[in-house]
Amino acid sequence: MSPKIQAPRGTQDVLPEQAAARAVLEERAREVFEAAGYERIETPIFEHTELFSRGVGESTDIVQKEMYTFQDGGGRSLTLRPEGTAAVSRAYTEHGMHKLPLPVKLWYFGPFFRYERAQAGRYRQFWQIGIEALGAEDPAVDAEAILLLVTLLQSVGARGVKVKVSSLGRLESRAVYRDALQTHLRANEDRLSDEVRGRIDLNPLRAFDSDHPGTQEVMRDAPLLRDFLDPEDAEHFAQVLALLDAADVPYEVDPTLVRGLDYYSRTVFEVHSTELGAQSALGGGGRYDGLVEQIGGPPTPGMGWAAGVERILLAGGAPPHAPAPVDLLVGGPVGPEQFRLVADARRAGLRAQLDLAGRSLKGVLKQANRLDARYVAWMDDDGHAQLKDMQTGEQLTAPDTDAVIRDVLRGPGL
Ligand code: AMP
Repeated sequence: MSPKIQAPRGTQDVLPEQAAARAVLEERAREVFEAAGYERIETPIFEHTELFSRGVGESTDIVQKEMYTFQDGGGRSLTLRPEGTAAVSRAYTEHGMHKLPLPVKLWYFGPFFRYERAQAGRYRQFWQIGIEALGAEDPAVDAEAILLLVTLLQSVGARGVKVKVSSLGRLESRAVYRDALQTHLRANEDRLSDEVRGRIDLNPLRAFDSDHPGTQEVMRDAPLLRDFLDPEDAEHFAQVLALLDAADVPYEVDPTLVRGLDYYSRTVFEVHSTELGAQSALGGGGRYDGLVEQIGGPPTPGMGWAAGVERILLAGGAPPHAPAPVDLLVGGPVGPEQFRLVADARRAGLRAQLDLAGRSLKGVLKQANRLDARYVAWMDDDGHAQLKDMQTGEQLTAPDTDAVIRDVLRGPGL
């Protein structure tokens, strides 16, 4: 026997029941976002590697160690998309969307790829739902984006949802803060993990994310960004919070919240679920006012987030799945009459299935019960169509299959 081939580590098959739950989630997302004026966009699964190295940032975990990068037959360096914002920003620029009425509001739903340590809730291929609003700086864009994620999670029944929000300020105030943080980290260098020590120059903010005990102690009295926000950034943040209050969105301000990507400025937020274990983040995002310019577009403010589809489902956002009822099951053996009956029934708008397993009549009736089919049809030995109503038990003979459709199935019964 040949050895069994399994799916690669960190990937998951989406089996029919899970596919149904995802379809419901996608549909709810569409309802919630499109009601707020967001339109669907899909970008390619792979992009030029440079988009992510420039857009997501050289200092990030994603670019340093998590990208699936390959050369195509023409020698180009391509990367399976690890996140959506850089790609949507590229599409915005490439298609001149800045000429549209602003902000341009987009949403997406699709697979993403990161070479991460696979574990429960963390995969190498995972799906994200996300939104991006490009072209407006207004704090209402930030508050609305957060509200839309909370609304979506509520509408699919995700449990234990908690919002954390913070502001990173703009690049200028962040630069002053970075200096102060670097000074603090250098003064305590001997207590830091090797990884954090190695990143003092490149990305000192990530020290807040460390789970190394010594580092955590040092971070307890680290300077906080909120004390370095300039008045405009502080005012922007205050307005975002006021709008969340106005919409009764509960949140916690977490001044140690830093997101793993370089492009954020001002508002950042994450949504966690208390129902999940170590990988508790359902989604996160923030404002990225410099990103579009960074990848060659016009100066454009932006705000968006992405949420993990598998995580939402794990947090109970898996709506109950009731399979659609079957109207008609046609018993075999499948000949032209049976085949035509199913084709005609479907054309007439019925949900009709053929028995493809060559079951006996008894077997077909049993299968009809399993499928909860309303009617079963088969040809008797005299070439007449027999139709059984599985609800009433009534059985009748029709002269031919046309009559089955015309007289019975399209009648008041269905
Ligand atoms: P990020 O932009 O990295 O914060 O990702 C946004 C959301 O996507 C996270 O909050 C997770 O729900 C989900 N996510 C990110 N990476 C993974 C992964 N490797 N496996 C599963 N879900 C992920």
